[in-house]
Amino acid sequence: MDYDVLIIGGGVTGTAIAYELAKTDLNVALIEKEEDVCEGTTKANSAIVHAGFDAKPGTLKAKLNVEGAKLMPELAKLLDFDYKNNGALVLCFDEEHRPGVVELYERGLANGVEGLQILEKEQVKALEPNVSDEVVCALYAPTSSIVCPFGLTYAFAENAADNGVQFIFNEPVETIEKIDGGWKVNDKYTTKTIVNAAGVYADGIHNDVCPEKIQIIPRRGEYTLLDRSTGNMCSHTLFQLPTKAGKGVLITPTVHGNIMIGPNAQEVENKENTNTTPEGQAEIRQKALKTIPNIPFNKTIRTFSGLRATPANGDFVIAESADGFFDAAGIESPGLSSAPAIGKMVAGMIEEKLKPGKRENYKADRKGFVNVKKLSKEEWEKLIEKDPDYGTIVCRCETVTAGSIKDALTRSVPAVSLDGIKRRTRAGMGRCQSGFCAPRSMAIMSEVMNIPMEEIRLSNQKSKLITGKVKEDLKHGN
Ligand SMILES: Cc1cc2nc3c(=O)[nH]c(=O)nc-3n(C[C@H](O)[C@H](O)[C@H](O)COP(=O)(O)OP(=O)(O)OC[C@H]3O[C@@H](n4cnc5c(N)ncnc54)[C@H](O)[C@@H]3O)c2cc1C
Repeated sequence: MDYDVLIIGGGVTGTAIAYELAKTDLNVALIEKEEDVCEGTTKANSAIVHAGFDAKPGTLKAKLNVEGAKLMPELAKLLDFDYKNNGALVLCFDEEHRPGVVELYERGLANGVEGLQILEKEQVKALEPNVSDEVVCALYAPTSSIVCPFGLTYAFAENAADNGVQFIFNEPVETIEKIDGGWKVNDKYTTKTIVNAAGVYADGIHNDVCPEKIQIIPRRGEYTLLDRSTGNMCSHTLFQLPTKAGKGVLITPTVHGNIMIGPNAQEVENKENTNTTPEGQAEIRQKALKTIPNIPFNKTIRTFSGLRATPANGDFVIAESADGFFDAAGIESPGLSSAPAIGKMVAGMIEEKLKPGKRENYKADRKGFVNVKKLSKEEWEKLIEKDPDYGTIVCRCETVTAGSIKDALTRSVPAVSLDGIKRRTRAGMGRCQSGFCAPRSMAIMSEVMNIPMEEIRLSNQKSKLITGKVKEDLKHGN
């Protein structure tokens, strides 16, 4: 067999499983249809490590959310990704809805969430002065946190690669065939076991293999992202209490100091439909004003959307659904929060089956990308002495240096597109949205990847950024 385990999908779920399996001496590969990890739902969500009061007690969602959230702080230190414990408030705007707050509180207790409290209006306003005066009370969840979903996924992937997991990119899984002692994938790779972590596409993969069918409904959620200058608008994640009228939207700071607003929920048919729409944007903006009345929407720097992989049965589908075929499917929210626990659970099931030993020379940690804004002047100077590229600022909005961009291009799971650089280093994430730094990042990519500028892409095989040279076009009278 080529592999002991072949993981399909390089989102946070697949990479978390790869990270856990890399601790064993199993021969593991991860196959991804895109050119990089973090290209599916994992790149577009609310980035909240939920405390765990939302999911129905007794479900996998509830159990793995609470477990995952508990693992996250230590993991953030070990694998060096951005994570912040900022706490959350679920705001109630009508005395009539107070029982809903109590219900969430009790559900949280049943799920094992620590530190929950119900706060009255004055207490809420003391914590968050910009919250509307209409607020009546709120559920306070001090363990709720925010994370960089890209950082978390690259950390899992790089550590897995550093410990021997092989990554196969640009290859969609199209066929899975049962063979003696395992499976054959794409008529090419033989493996003892398969993990299906294919996000919104996981139902197709499961249904090709298993007699009992599952269904995943893509539900799109749109967002508005505000410039960092608005970052002091709130410090907690502000949810609206779900009522009969709807789930409301959230306003949250991000780990990088922006404010993010959204999401709505709309079923879509096309599993690639991550458009934003005027109606969706109007909906989230109008709903958010209930939480904070004076949101400066003129500070919007980006809109985007992500697709929830909503399972028809309402819970995560994590099981050995056929002999040696493991599902990690239907991983909608709180999938990001649960990822560390999903990784442990699925790896545990596979270890039970294959009985591996421990990996020799296992490398437990991983270093994140240098953020020069976090360094003291002396530390930065020392770094520049060692590598002068860290003294060249490429992205002025986010203070990203040429050193970090080169680092992103040469890691064990390297960036191969401008978006890959952006998500790893934040070059292009700021106010100008890469208007200034894109050509400079591209020049570095051209040099390090040893390819002409015309070959550099924004995000996928079809997204070349340069179509030709202006001077040559003029010469030919175009
Ligand atoms: C609007 C929204 C808000 C959310 N907010 C939160 C939140 O605040 N907190 C939280 O905990 N969770 C949140 N989530 C959920 C969270 O984002 C997901 O649970 C998580 O990202 C799912 O990761 P995944 O790896 O399972 O899927 P994905 O990230 O989609 O990864 C699946 C991968 O499989 C690949 N793939 C698919 N088909 C194939 C194939 N045939 N061959 C090879 N590769 C394939 C895809 O290219 C993709 O890279 C939110 C989700 C959405 C949409």
